[in-house]
Parts: sequence; C-alpha cells; structure tokens
Amino acid sequence: MTKFTPFWWEGQPQFENTDVVPSTADIVIVGAGYTGLSAALTLSKSGKNVIVLDSEMIGFGASTRNGGMLGSGHKVSTDQAKKKYGEDIAAELHKEANASLAFTTNLITVNNIDCEFQACGRLRTSWLPKDQVSMSDNLRKLKAIEDFNSKMIGPDMMPKSIKTDLYFGGQFYQDHGSVHPHKFHYGLLKLALEAGAKVFGSRPVIKITQLSKLKQDGFDVLTPNSKIHCKQVLMATNGYTRSNLSKYLSRRVLPVPSFVITTVDIGKDKVQSLLPGGHCMVETRKRYCYYRPTPCGTRIMLGTRAAMHSISAEEALPTLRKMLLEIFPSLEGVEISHCWTGFTGFSFSQLPNLSINKGVYSALGYCGNGVAMAPYLGHMAALKMLNPNQKVTVFESTPLQTRPYYFGKPWFLPIASAYFRAFDLLDYYRRKKSIKKT
Ligand SMILES: Cc1cc2nc3c(=O)[nH]c(=O)nc-3n(C[C@H](O)[C@H](O)[C@H](O)COP(=O)(O)OP(=O)(O)OC[C@H]3O[C@@H](n4cnc5c(N)ncnc54)[C@H](O)[C@@H]3O)c2cc1C
Repeated sequence: MTKFTPFWWEGQPQFENTDVVPSTADIVIVGAGYTGLSAALTLSKSGKNVIVLDSEMIGFGASTRNGGMLGSGHKVSTDQAKKKYGEDIAAELHKEANASLAFTTNLITVNNIDCEFQACGRLRTSWLPKDQVSMSDNLRKLKAIEDFNSKMIGPDMMPKSIKTDLYFGGQFYQDHGSVHPHKFHYGLLKLALEAGAKVFGSRPVIKITQLSKLKQDGFDVLTPNSKIHCKQVLMATNGYTRSNLSKYLSRRVLPVPSFVITTVDIGKDKVQSLLPGGHCMVETRKRYCYYRPTPCGTRIMLGTRAAMHSISAEEALPTLRKMLLEIFPSLEGVEISHCWTGFTGFSFSQLPNLSINKGVYSALGYCGNGVAMAPYLGHMAALKMLNPNQKVTVFESTPLQTRPYYFGKPWFLPIASAYFRAFDLLDYYRRKKSIKKT
C-alpha cells in the first residue's frame, strides 16, 4: 500500500514548543524551513533575540519534502543572464551559486549535522544529443567566470553511472551531494535552538503591521492568539507564501508543486545495478525527472513535474510510476512505498531574491533548487538585517516582479500544465527524430 506522506518523515522526531510565545523580540521570522532557520541561526549567534513562527508543524514545508539533492546552479543559463542583466551580474550569479553549495556543505560538515550527507556528485543527463552541445557550451562559459568541479561525460561512460540507454551523455558535477532532507532540517533546527532562537509551530502569522515609517518603531506581528512587537521581520515562506498574509509577495512567488515517489526496499544490489555511480541524477528534458538512491541505498526515489498546478499525490502517482518505468523498465511490478507532493517557490525571473518591501525583508524564489541555496540566502538575509546599508548578495539585484492579472492565485498554472504536456510530447518527438538521424 502506498503511503501519501513523505518517505523522509518516517520515524523522524518532531519538535514541539509548548512555551508561551514572548510578546517582544528583536526579529520575527515567518516560516521555519531552511531559510528561516538558517537566518535564525546567524541572527541568534550575533546576539539578536529571534522568534521563528510556522503556521504548521515545524518543517511542514518543502524543507522536509524535497529530493535531498544538494547542488548549485540556476534555471537561467549564463547567456540568458548576460543578456538580461549584463556580464557582471551573470558572473556574480555563477559565483554565488558555487558559494551557496560551499556554504551549506560547510554548515553540515563543520556542525556535524547528522543528515546522511554524501558527496556523491550529480549527473545531468542529456535527453537529446543537442543537450550535450548546449551544456558543454554553457560549462565552458561558466568555467571562464570561475572554475568549478564539473565535466562532460560522453555516452560511452554513462554505464558507469546508470543502467539505461535513454541518455546521450551528461554533465557531471563532482561537488554536488545528497542529504536526508528531514534530518538536515532537524539538525538546522537544533543549531538555531542552541544558539538561542525560539521556534514555534502551529502559529500562523495573520498580520504584520509596520507601526510607523520610523525604523525604531518596528512591527506588530499577529497570530490568532499572540502579538509580538519586534524591530525587524523576515518572510521565509517561499512556495507556501499566501496572499492572506502578503499580497505583495504572493503576486511575485508562484507556488509550483513537485511530486516524489520512493520504491519499496529492492535491495542494495538492485539499486547499485541500476545506479552504479550512486549519484543524484537530473534530466535535461522539460519533464525534469530527478532521481537518486535513498540514503540507506535500498530504494530509488524519483521526482518529476506531474502537473504545474496543484493535484493530489494520489492523482500524480500513475505519472510518476510511468516515468520510473521508462527509465528503469526492470522495476515493472515493484511497489511504490511513498508518494507525496510539496510546493516550490518560483519567481518570474527564475532566480532567488532577497529584498525589502515596506520594511519587511524576504528571502525566497529558489525555483526548486533550495537545499543549498535556502540556507545560504537565509544566512545572507540575516547579514543584511544586521547591516541594512551593506550589499550582501547579488540576489538583491535580481528582479522580484509580478505580471499583469496575477493576484496571487496562479489561475494560469493549469494552462501551463497543458502547455508542458504538449512540450513533453515534443520532447519525445525530437528524441525520435534525433535517434533516426544517428
Ligand atoms: C517535492 C520537492 C522536491 C524538491 N527537491 C529539491 C532537491 O532535490 N534539491 C533542491 O535543491 N531543492 C529541492 N526542492 C526545493 C527546496 O526544498 C526548497 O527550495 C527549500 O526547502 C525552501 O526552503 P524554505 O525554508 O525557503 O521554504 P519551506 O521549507 O517551504 O518553508 C516555508 C514555511 O513557511 C510556512 N508559512 C507559510 N505561511 C506562513 C504564515 N502565514 N505564518 C507562519 N508560517 C508560514 C510554511 O508552513 C512552511 O513551513 C524541492 C521542493 C519540493 C517541494
């Protein structure tokens, strides 16, 4: 029987805080995922009195639901970034992608966070022959900005990483890794608590009121049964940002669902025979399948875009199973133990963003790449709050735009689902055509 809750939640501790919420703080952080907790850690360490509030149980959001693939990189290519923002910003974007991975890897290793971190590398696999060409071209341009540990893999080398003939090669990212997302979240929570932050679940923030234009007057942060007076506020709600709290942000961050399955235990030998490299795998096709062995090495986890709009995990399961079997036909008949969904937060620029609106800070827009980036940007948000006049990151320069007729309810995502379904078919057609040619 498939469970429709995250595999990562099995047997994991749940932190509850039954204390009364204090009525004052230096800083209130809304959202207790990687962003909020990382910001809380940095701020508490520098002597600030910090309260983190989550509307659900602590760790309810994407931070305990993700694929646990720890990596760097943006949805936007170097050429696109250069064209849109100029050479300098494009260069900074690449450097800070690398910096985010180094930051989070360091956070895990220096603090001995028990999260089954593996420096397993990541292979981005080419769905079409031309993907090899464009990845290789982009890689050359990225290396010219700042070197990083990545190389192209030819089709002949693929069997070392994966047992399938679906791909035409790939790009290998040596320094990427994997974590158990719930354990990583819990480790980060423990660090923030030890540093002095007070973290509360089941406390939805329903209103943030700026008391005056004068900075020193601060804010009142309201939950259904408490009011906190504080000097600064950080919104760390990413894909869970809702318009009832922030119309401004919900018009700028799209909640796009992602769906994940894990197989039942199929044994280490079977997993190793299918994924001998033990890497995290992501595809170039628009469908964007990503998969990896689970930390115990006995199951395979696969995520994909089953729809652009919110559907239930039950509805998504057949699509996920189909994708798994397309990659690994020998898994026919293997049961799916877990299937779940969660929201990523997409900015219209497809880049993360740190900004201030009416005195309220926000760090979000990871576009599905937040395991390394969210802790990093949470930390950067904390540095910005400590030194508001200092520029701390290039993500202050990325635009956080909205679009006409978008008021926070993504009515167009079902249309996008249909569009992407057509694109998926086109992906198959292009592939067939290119196979015929070779
Ligand atoms: C299924 C899935 C797979 C993914 N896989 C990967 C991956 O393999 N690699 C990768 O790099 N990234 C991945 N991501 C993205 C990554 O998980 C996120 O970018 C990251 O966890 C975002 O962290 P966060 O702290 O900003 O937000 P979240 O962890 O989503 O936390 C936001 C929190 O804000 C709370 N909140 C919202 N409104 C309020 C309110 N009014 N009051 C109080 N609290 C509120 C929510 O309850 C939520 O807990 C994946 C995401 C999903 C959903």
